[in-house]
Amino acid sequence: MNIIDGKKISNIYLEQLKSKIKHNKLSLAVIQVGDDLASSIYIKQKENMAKELKIDFKHLKFKESIDEKELLEVITKLNKSDITGILVQLPIPDHYDILTIQNAIDSKKDVDGFHFLNVNKLINNKKSLIPCTAKGIITLLKYYNISLESKNVVVIGRSNIVGRPISDILLNENATVTICHSKTKKLRLFTRKADILIVAAGQKHLIKSNMVKKGVVIIDVGITKFENKLYGDVDFEKIKRKAKLITPVPGGVGPMTVYSLFENLHEAYLLQKSNEVVE
Ligand code: NDP
Repeated sequence: MNIIDGKKISNIYLEQLKSKIKHNKLSLAVIQVGDDLASSIYIKQKENMAKELKIDFKHLKFKESIDEKELLEVITKLNKSDITGILVQLPIPDHYDILTIQNAIDSKKDVDGFHFLNVNKLINNKKSLIPCTAKGIITLLKYYNISLESKNVVVIGRSNIVGRPISDILLNENATVTICHSKTKKLRLFTRKADILIVAAGQKHLIKSNMVKKGVVIIDVGITKFENKLYGDVDFEKIKRKAKLITPVPGGVGPMTVYSLFENLHEAYLLQKSNEVVE
């Protein structure tokens, strides 16, 4: 079977994580600003997984009228509290400076891996808290024993959330990485060379069957809602027979992203604990 079941694989790892954390008291705070419907759905998924793992979950929801200073004060309080992990659900409205907010979170509680210290560590191939989607993708590839060294990996998308961190991880794993984006001309010339293709563009069916070679491994990150149905960036039905392995949308990368957040939470806990011992 060449279709990757992200739900099944995330459940396998979830059971392992359950036994690793059963004696630890972990807690997670999710800050939401505004009323974005998709964000509320993602937060609910995180809350459900927290419940399953018996992790204390705090959902702090604010109106868009909260000013940046107040929001930073909330984060400072959480930094000083005994909460294990903090994240700000994206997107946040445009009038906030996203980098200021992300960098205000204690880097050891930064379970989304967006703090500049964590980004810097990742770029320099040092152990760090890694953005969840990128971490989920690499966990999937490792689950299938896909070797990365010397492979031609094409990543479509260069966002700080997906494209860049996954490209950094792949470089650290000695893959040859090509990053494409909306200004890339003749995308097909790049995608056809890919041994592994990772698509995070958010463009329904951007990748057609004639754009990939036979035996390619495809990780489809994109999610586009169209007429009440979810679509990936890959024309799944037409490509699936050509691929060695392929993720569906939904049910591929999504569950791995949610799972990876809790792996990060556990890592954040260990990081904070090891510092306590040193100090
Ligand atoms: P962004 O919009 O921040 O980035 C999209 C990237 O795709 C940009 O780099 C953009 O290029 C590039 N792009 C857009 N159109 C094209 C095109 N026609 N050809 C080549 N490149 C293109 O999105 P995110 O990275 O945050 O998310 C990407 C997708 O993944 C979204 O659909 C999102 O919903 C989904 N997602 C899914 C997750 C999951 O768990 N399954 C988690 C996170 C995101 P440029 O930089 O030039 O604008």
